[in-house]
Amino acid sequence: MKTIKNLVSILVVSALLTGAFTYYEYSKITQIVPQIKSYTFSGESISYSSATIRYHLLGGLIPLDRTYTQDLQIKITTDQILQSFSVSDTSRIIITAPDQQIQTFTGSQELAFEDDGEYTIEIEDTDPDGNQTRYVFTVVVDNVAEITISNLAPFQGELLVIDLANIQRNSTISIESTLLPSIVTQQDHTARFYVPIQYRTSAKAYPLTIVINEKRYEYNLDVKPFDFDKVYFTVDDDIINGPAGSPEAAAQFRNATYPLLDIVEPEDLHTGSFILPVEGARVSSTFAEMRYINGSTTPSRHGGIDYAITCGTPVYASNSGLVQYADILDMTGNTVYIEHGLGLKTVYYHMLDLTIEAGDRVEKGQLIGHVGTTGFSTGCHLHFQAMIKNQLINPDFLYQLFSNP
Ligand SMILES: [Zn+2]
Repeated sequence: MKTIKNLVSILVVSALLTGAFTYYEYSKITQIVPQIKSYTFSGESISYSSATIRYHLLGGLIPLDRTYTQDLQIKITTDQILQSFSVSDTSRIIITAPDQQIQTFTGSQELAFEDDGEYTIEIEDTDPDGNQTRYVFTVVVDNVAEITISNLAPFQGELLVIDLANIQRNSTISIESTLLPSIVTQQDHTARFYVPIQYRTSAKAYPLTIVINEKRYEYNLDVKPFDFDKVYFTVDDDIINGPAGSPEAAAQFRNATYPLLDIVEPEDLHTGSFILPVEGARVSSTFAEMRYINGSTTPSRHGGIDYAITCGTPVYASNSGLVQYADILDMTGNTVYIEHGLGLKTVYYHMLDLTIEAGDRVEKGQLIGHVGTTGFSTGCHLHFQAMIKNQLINPDFLYQLFSNP
């Protein structure tokens, strides 16, 4: 009898102790708000909106869910389209765009905020222990394009490269300029176009406006004068009046090459800087030099650079591109036109022979023929020229323009 009494006492005491301990643990839990992780988005800390934390009392026998809520209004302003956001693999990200379209992602993401306006972002985290956390915040997007112009004060004869970044996919882009810019090529969130400052461009300021989805970005290009060479020389009448210098030869040249100027590859085909098309040559005529021939008082201008070197020296494609023309003409001899994309072309004259054909894709540095003296030429040399449409540009600027490779 005494044994039973003792046993009952032990049970009662144990129950009381368990109850007291459980109450102690429970009251501790209800008083302490746990440290719930926060996220970082665009440099801002995002605290939770609500969190349900699961506790396990008595070694897991009693699960206890506690929900914590915070009434937070987190608003982030950004001008960047792409935002990388890292969350746990099991998290869901739900984005409501300004047009109310909803997108859902799982795990870490690079998020693209294509349109301006207010986005709502919700993140739902669930961990293996059953803890759930929810984060809600808004992101106000006002995308600003990043525009890089290779030179705001270019020389006559320079080619300007204009790169756009942080733009929407399939943006509507237009260029307002009297300087005859190239077409624009766009890939995802970047775009590029050229402005050729041909040698006859007067040295003064020119406005350039880039319109991207109705947002206007305005610049002034301050064109500086280039010190072109002046040369005085005589050419024998038989050469001037010979077949290579005849009106028929000029007409043949125009008919063959002028239509090429309007054929433009919409994609950028070049890679890095342009290279010299011949190695070890002497420059015998500079770009756009003023030529006073046989005492003439009005100069003719030289459209490219002449590289004088032994006939038979290899000639290389100055950059990668598409061969548009490879044939012989009375005036320019063996002639090659290579389109590098967006209408930027390099041109090679007077070659001895040709090792490529129209329609070939060539790589930078690929052999295209050899130096010769075919056509209207008085000695072994390569005439090398660069242009967009009929806007001749100085090849010397192309050698330094793009970073390698
Ligand atoms: Zn020349």
